[in-house]
Amino acid sequence: MTEPVIQLKDVSLTLGEGASAVHVLKGVSLDVEKGEATGIVGPSGSGKSTLLMVVAGLERVDAGTVSVAGETLNGKSEDQIAAFRGRNIGIVFQSFHLIPNMTALENVAVPLELAGHPDPFAVAARELEAVGLSNRVTHYPSELSGGEQQRVAIARALAPDPAILIADEPTGNLDQATGRQIADLLFAKAKERGMTLLLVTHDVALAGRCSLQIAMRSGRIESAPALQAVSA
Ligand code: ADP
Ligand code: MG
Repeated sequence: MTEPVIQLKDVSLTLGEGASAVHVLKGVSLDVEKGEATGIVGPSGSGKSTLLMVVAGLERVDAGTVSVAGETLNGKSEDQIAAFRGRNIGIVFQSFHLIPNMTALENVAVPLELAGHPDPFAVAARELEAVGLSNRVTHYPSELSGGEQQRVAIARALAPDPAILIADEPTGNLDQATGRQIADLLFAKAKERGMTLLLVTHDVALAGRCSLQIAMRSGRIESAPALQAVSA
């Protein structure tokens, strides 16, 4: 039995101050095995995005422990967390989050360059080709369709070869057919690279494609079906 790649133990987190403080996560525990695809569903405001941010080290918890990719995030410095994230985490958002005045190629290459990668543009070109965009490398985000923009975002997330791919409603801004293609791409890439996929979605069918499904409600995990043993 291997150590789970994501392990949250009794995690609690309050965001905001004073009158606007919200107890967002209320004792969340979660184990995700390496290579597993986990689908997180639940009503708006139930804490799904915050849970993803905790796993990515973008939010620190008030109580409980967070272990990801063999590292315990509690007590790490900001620099250590940033380094952890660079090594281990790729993130894809609903609204793509591309930089508007950079081409597709630059959107993928520049983060690699900033991380000190020796050959960022070659890797970026390869990653764009791998998501089917080799004919769009010099396009700016405004010149790309939603589906194409999300492909660029996926290429950017995959370029550092992370162990864990986090996707927050990645198909939420796309029509059904395009959303389906993007979901297919995410699952294919995760499988191909042995990545662990953590996916928030409103699409029950999409969540149903994941090997583990989690339902959140009011900051708690409502149901987490027993982990299926990953047998070789
Ligand atoms: P979901 O992704 O499930 O829609 P979120 O994780 O984004 O939910 O948010 C959960 C709850 O936490 C919401 O009620 C939201 O308003 C609240 N929240 C999120 N961020 C903050 C913040 N910085 N300050 C105060 N409340 C916040
Ligand atoms: Mg959300």
